Amino acid sequence: MDIRINSYIPITNVEGVGTRFAIWVQGCSIHCKGCANPHMWDFDGGTSYKVEDFINIIKSYANKIEGITWLGGEPLEQIEPVTKISKAVQELGLSVIVFTGNDYADIKDRQDFRELAKYTDILIDGRYEQDKQDFSRAWVGSSNQNYYFFTDRYNESVIYENKNKIEVRISPDNEVVLTGMGDFKELMEVMR
Ligand code: SF4
Repeated sequence: MDIRINSYIPITNVEGVGTRFAIWVQGCSIHCKGCANPHMWDFDGGTSYKVEDFINIIKSYANKIEGITWLGGEPLEQIEPVTKISKAVQELGLSVIVFTGNDYADIKDRQDFRELAKYTDILIDGRYEQDKQDFSRAWVGSSNQNYYFFTDRYNESVIYENKNKIEVRISPDNEVVLTGMGDFKELMEVMR
């Protein structure tokens, strides 16, 4: 089984609780207006990995991270490999956070989603809605998005204990990569 990934950051502190391995899957059919990642919509983009190989990449960081976070792209559009990797990650004692642009009410009865939910600690649902933009809550960009806690590992307190943060990475060829959540446009203005 393969998974198509746009990119990943093995060590980040802005994509959920604690230090995490963040994975942006490739492909999304939801197409929210104002999406920050439209280059992740194309299902033929990114890089294909064997699921076992990708699990081994995560394993090599296991002692440095609290868990993984799925972002995108839309993780549920590759739900089989996402579930398989999430299961392996939880078996390592690490946590799993999943972002989806779907509403929980629309997916909660899907058999494949229920399987993924078994290996998910926190689900954050809802598409990005430009007219509801709100950076006041941890990790989310619009007020319609919600947090669901499927295990005892975390509870609602993590929402209040964490703030939105942005990480700035500058590649050797001077490409600036911003991750996390917040007003990216304002930050780019400051950096100009
Ligand atoms: S679900 Fe996520 S990746 Fe897909 S269009 Fe919306 S914000 Fe962009």
